[in-house]
Amino acid sequence: MANNSKTSFPLTADVTAAAFKDSILKHLNATHGTDVNKATNRSWWDAVSSALNEYVYNSLSQTQRTYFENDTRAVHYFSLEFLMGRLTGNNLHNLGLYTVAQEALKELDINIETLVDEEEDMALGNGGLGRLAACFIDSLATMHLPAVGYGIHYEHGLFRQEFQDGHQIERPDSWREYGNPFEICRPENVQEIPVYGYVETKFDDNGHIAKVWHPGRVIKGVPWDVPVVGYEGTNVNILRLWESRASDFFNWDVFNAGGYHDAHKENVESETVSKVLYPNDETEAGKELRLIQQYFFSACSLKDIINRYQRAHGEDWSKFSAQVAVQLNDTHPAVAIPELMRILVDEFNQDWDYAWNVCRETFSYTNHTLLPEALEKWSVSLFEKVLPRHLEIIYEINRRFLNDEVEAKWPGNDTIKSKLSIIEEGHERMVRMGNLSVIGSNKVNGVAEVHSALVKSDLFPEFDALWPEKLTNVTNGVTPRRWLKACNPKLSELIDATVGDKWPTNLELLRDLDKKADDAEFQKQFMAIKHENKVELASVIKELTDVEVDPSAIFDIQIKRLHEYKRQHLNLLHIMALYRRLLQNPDYDMHPRVFIFGAKAAPGYKLAKDIIYAINKVADKVNNDERIKGKLKVVFLPNYRVSLAEKMIPAADVSEQISTAGKEASGTGNMKLALNGAITIGTLDGANIEIAEEVGEDNVVIFGLTVDEVKAVNKAGYSPWDYYYANPEIKAVLDWFETDYFTSGKPGELASIKHSLLEGGDPYLCLADFDGYSKAHEQVNAKYIDKQGWAKSAILNTAYMGKFNSDRSIQDYVDRIWKLKSYPVKVN
Ligand SMILES: *Cc1c(COP(=O)(O)O)cnc(C)c1O
Repeated sequence: MANNSKTSFPLTADVTAAAFKDSILKHLNATHGTDVNKATNRSWWDAVSSALNEYVYNSLSQTQRTYFENDTRAVHYFSLEFLMGRLTGNNLHNLGLYTVAQEALKELDINIETLVDEEEDMALGNGGLGRLAACFIDSLATMHLPAVGYGIHYEHGLFRQEFQDGHQIERPDSWREYGNPFEICRPENVQEIPVYGYVETKFDDNGHIAKVWHPGRVIKGVPWDVPVVGYEGTNVNILRLWESRASDFFNWDVFNAGGYHDAHKENVESETVSKVLYPNDETEAGKELRLIQQYFFSACSLKDIINRYQRAHGEDWSKFSAQVAVQLNDTHPAVAIPELMRILVDEFNQDWDYAWNVCRETFSYTNHTLLPEALEKWSVSLFEKVLPRHLEIIYEINRRFLNDEVEAKWPGNDTIKSKLSIIEEGHERMVRMGNLSVIGSNKVNGVAEVHSALVKSDLFPEFDALWPEKLTNVTNGVTPRRWLKACNPKLSELIDATVGDKWPTNLELLRDLDKKADDAEFQKQFMAIKHENKVELASVIKELTDVEVDPSAIFDIQIKRLHEYKRQHLNLLHIMALYRRLLQNPDYDMHPRVFIFGAKAAPGYKLAKDIIYAINKVADKVNNDERIKGKLKVVFLPNYRVSLAEKMIPAADVSEQISTAGKEASGTGNMKLALNGAITIGTLDGANIEIAEEVGEDNVVIFGLTVDEVKAVNKAGYSPWDYYYANPEIKAVLDWFETDYFTSGKPGELASIKHSLLEGGDPYLCLADFDGYSKAHEQVNAKYIDKQGWAKSAILNTAYMGKFNSDRSIQDYVDRIWKLKSYPVKVN
């Protein structure tokens, strides 16, 4: 390994392993009150964190001062989710201190990998949307852009998943039970947030109307700052997460009147707001507490932004939207739009039209889904109860929008008005957060080319006609620091040696690897690293599931939330078909395969949990069947999360990206896997289409219905029964679900899957795509047997993934939406 004792970044260039070791020892005692004889792994982790935080805090202070002194325009990324994962390894890498720390710890007889495994994941998100937010704040800091991430400081993140007899069991996640060394509480920036109550209409001496909101409760928002360390460590931005507490000065009347329990109940309810993350991915929950969470963090964040703005500009609002960009990550923070109107109109007495212009120039909105069940709507009655003044403001925004803008474009057209209205009429009137977000935003973006095109053509066509410049695309990306450099050190070292070490901030440099794609020696090195990574994953698999897998088999990986549209059950049908082929013909020609899954199901999503159970039961049977001679193995790793993804992705040969076309907005797992040299088997959906364009059609395996074909099939009236009767293999596999072949003595335990694919109408077209999928797998098999051909494709996947760097996504946001300037900090 090159130059272990020194780093290559200017900021930490003089830090030696010996000095870092001294710092660790100093902090072990001076900061954490223990010593080398008593120190546990946890104490060592604390001490290492404190040693590295010396550099983090220095850059943090200088970065914030630079932004303040330059009165910079900044983006504020509002997201209900940040799926950060672990921070120690990432921060060490981004500061250039990883090898220094590794060596320092070695001298203390501590393995750095064991140590970083001490850290609980910071899992304040469900899946792709939350991980995107985490990649974006990494890129913003790396690109020296003024930015703040805003979210909720959940006490419990996404549940921990265990399996009991193959069933998913949810356990609470307590990521900071004993504190977390990377967060700083900022009591000086506490906010008070009103909710509930009623609105009073007042008239001033001139007869002007003024609205006064008399809240029923006030919740205190306590900010926790997580430093976001950019690569090379000069710029350190902030992720500010709000914790809810009972307000200090509220309800003492009740308390003093002897209502101790009532006062206590309100305290508990206030503290509940940031207690848990809702575990629903891609489904809207519609619960009161969720609306309060959305309002709580949006309102805290806006007050925080306004405080900072007023320090420089007082009550001159004319520069607000020039200084402040707010990006809404999905509609979850959309209530920030009426909240800013309320602040400007009610609290600062600004004229409505003036305030509305400020709002529209400030906010932009990212759409993440077209799935109807994920489009947020709140009942008007719930809105009125929780946020009575905001409902009035939404009505007024809506009235003006329909009467002025829609009427001008489509005079007298009530059909279009009812479609574009923020209020949905019906049995129960609803507030449509998507329409509110589009109407109140400057720009609206989808997250991959095909998705953005569908946002225009299918979801918001009238809005696109009304404002042809508003709807745009920014294709997602992932940070190559975490998803290649840190998680795959062996491949990173080979890349450094081949194209130099500048690729982590300029991923297009990987393109030069294509010159080596046909080089037999380079192929050997590349595939030897893949093999070593597979050996390591095999030992993780053994540890977690007690299943032995052969690293020379094809590692075929599907990791993502469990959802019907992602079609883990299509993968399962094909695995069962392969198993059946092997049983019928022991000489069936296939290279040994290990199918590896990782996925959490929302606790209330019955069919998703049934699919997990079915995969586990099939795995049990297949893995213990001597007849198939180890040619097929199936493993489902429990508790899929960022830190587990980091161990799985470097070991993948095949990446399963098999959503029904039109359903996966972008995907980012697809990017991480291809970047690490996995070959995608995928549908023409989301970013798969752009990945295929970049890496070339010889280096991906595409199958299945296209977006247009899916539409045509559904229009013509799809019948899964046709496939059931026409394809004996499909029939045999579906009928298998009703037997007790996989659930000995309990026939019918897996029947719900067959049922959903037949009587249930197979809404995601698994049966229509089965044959294409099966043939695609034959192609994968043939391709793998051609060792050189496979190695070349794997190398070219890594080489051509430059576009899917989240730095490129952020540059697109900067150019098309945020218009930010970068401020590299000179740190001393
Ligand atoms: C990247 C990532 C996701 C998103 O995966 P998709 O395949 O794009 O759905 C979800 N969860 C974790 C832990 C991730 O790292």
